[in-house]
Amino acid sequence: MKIVVLGIDALEYDLVEEWNLKHLKQKSYCKTDLSDFDVITTPLIWGAMVTGKKLKEIEEIYVKRARFFSKHGTTIRREQEQYVIAKILRRLLPSKIKNFVSKKIVPDPFKKTYDIIQKRGYTTIFDFFEKTWNNGIPAYNRNVSTEEVKELMEKAVKGDVKSLYNYSMELYKKEKEELLKAISKDYELIFWYTPFLDEIEHFYINKRLKLLNIYLELNNLVKVIKEKLNENDILYIVSDHGMEPIEGDPRGGDHSDHGFFSSNTGELIQKPQDLFYLIKKKAEEIKG
Ligand SMILES: [Zn+2]
Repeated sequence: MKIVVLGIDALEYDLVEEWNLKHLKQKSYCKTDLSDFDVITTPLIWGAMVTGKKLKEIEEIYVKRARFFSKHGTTIRREQEQYVIAKILRRLLPSKIKNFVSKKIVPDPFKKTYDIIQKRGYTTIFDFFEKTWNNGIPAYNRNVSTEEVKELMEKAVKGDVKSLYNYSMELYKKEKEELLKAISKDYELIFWYTPFLDEIEHFYINKRLKLLNIYLELNNLVKVIKEKLNENDILYIVSDHGMEPIEGDPRGGDHSDHGFFSSNTGELIQKPQDLFYLIKKKAEEIKG
């Protein structure tokens, strides 16, 4: 018996519901509640799923950055406001000062936190099993905001969304192959993560037909995975947050205030942190 987790960054509950994507929905599905988090940011929420806790050291870095960039200081849950200010700052400040300011006051939070869980030795879902596989998870062992991605995002804001799209889809294809390989081996816990949807969805949230095609592809991926699993195998699908259109956002949209969860067992979770305890419980059951 194996447990497979498909971690699809930014999979939006409302779109899965609206388009009635039954493979993604599985037997039971729900929104997850993100109200524990002061900022809705990717590494913080994946970190909570892997460790069962909100990791304060990640949250603090993002809150600090958000306060620095935010117009209001209080409404920091969304990246949108920070983004606009950051853009103005970039235009106004000479590059030397700009680099100094950003490095001193707001160091790249993704770079600082990408492997914090391993570095600090937190107990994770991977500690409950002998044979596990993962392909890189934010805050555990993956930086989702590499220089390459940042550059493509900048280009997309200026109108070239195609380059980002090509990059994201290429990455998805590669990661899908890795998942299919891992599924055929005898791991007890497989945690597959993909950032491609978060990257592209900021810009595609208002391009419904293009987005529908991507969601249909993901729905079909779940079908393919299900066919490869045995009857007793467990399949969980999770997202950290969704995406919604935001008026005035230069990208088109930003993270929504809920995540997604589904299971082939009928089990549900309320918060991202609950995934850790659900998997821990399963591990104990399996070991009897
Ligand atoms: Zn995300």
